[in-house]
Amino acid sequence: MEPSPRPHFFDHTPDSLGDVVAGWGMPRFRAKQVFHWVYGRGVVDPLEMGNLSAADRGRLKENLAFIRGRVLRRQDASDGTHKLLVGWGAAADDPLALAPVADKNGFFADATECVMIPAGAGRSGGDAGPRGAARRTACLSSQVGCPVGCSFCASGLGGLDGNLTAGQIVQQAWMLDRELKTSGDPVGRLTNVVFMGMGEPMANLKAVVPALRTLTAAWGMNLSARKITVSTVGVVPGIRRLGELDLPVTLALSLHAPNDELRRQIIPWASFVTIEELVAACRGYFEATGREVTLEYILLGGFNDGPQHAAELAAVAKRLRSNVNLIRYNEVRGLPHQRPSSENVHRFQKVLRDRGVNAHLRASRGRDIAAACGQLRYAGP
Ligand code: SF4
Repeated sequence: MEPSPRPHFFDHTPDSLGDVVAGWGMPRFRAKQVFHWVYGRGVVDPLEMGNLSAADRGRLKENLAFIRGRVLRRQDASDGTHKLLVGWGAAADDPLALAPVADKNGFFADATECVMIPAGAGRSGGDAGPRGAARRTACLSSQVGCPVGCSFCASGLGGLDGNLTAGQIVQQAWMLDRELKTSGDPVGRLTNVVFMGMGEPMANLKAVVPALRTLTAAWGMNLSARKITVSTVGVVPGIRRLGELDLPVTLALSLHAPNDELRRQIIPWASFVTIEELVAACRGYFEATGREVTLEYILLGGFNDGPQHAAELAAVAKRLRSNVNLIRYNEVRGLPHQRPSSENVHRFQKVLRDRGVNAHLRASRGRDIAAACGQLRYAGP
């Protein structure tokens, strides 16, 4: 029989870990001490947790997994963005598996990518926050692969291989944060999180919701909910559920096309929902949380980047009082779409602005390491 896997530290709250350690004969308050070591001090080896008894350090080492999987590869882009390929499976735990092997489609099995996107404070990134505030944004994955299969995106090419747990989601943020804390980075910590990596977060809310709680908890990553963005292609029950949580995260609706007909050509799940229904759900989210919904729009050359599309998009944005983030498409080998011309991009933005819509052109970060939007899980040339 397979031994049962050890519990993963990052799946837990101080209360739930208190129950676990009590079951191992340790005082419940050990859990709070461990949380302080991990989130406060960045220590994940229990043998280094100096205020714990030697016996308890040994028990924790034996029974609790702190870091699951391992980083298979780190890639650094010329603009300061970098991404980590994290292998979660048994093969990734094999110390002899030095080189990850991509399959014939260029995918890695049971692995996800997370990206650090720095802006400001010594970085050239164009996405510094309002008034140029420096940011260190972690882009997290919520699933291995993606069930949606958008026609422009590498993450959905092989379908869904599985859901990440809450702990696996939080561990990505913790790892990127620790890198900042130990690398001499001038900001020195994570400031923002976006759920825009692999997967559709609303299709894995069972893990995403507890992960959001840990990311925002004072005992956890201690991030403001307002600095966290959850994106979705539009899953109405998920949007409703998120609105009920008392966690005022920013909701980003990946609209990507200004009408249902066009949308269904690029987002398979758009067949199940109309833009009208999404507008109603987003209004509900605003009423529940007070947070305006952002619209994400990927500009695909010759497909959805014409001025008539911009005018249609402006009408949707005005109904929602939404800001629009425009993203230039980044080519993915084997997919049919093209990067839009600069002329079309600027004309598109101007049409929106002329209609009173706040339209921001997102800087394309990490293109040279396939870390930009729609490229995650792509092995690269
Ligand atoms: S764009 Fe998002 S929802 Fe669509 S396939 Fe890629 S990861 Fe999935």
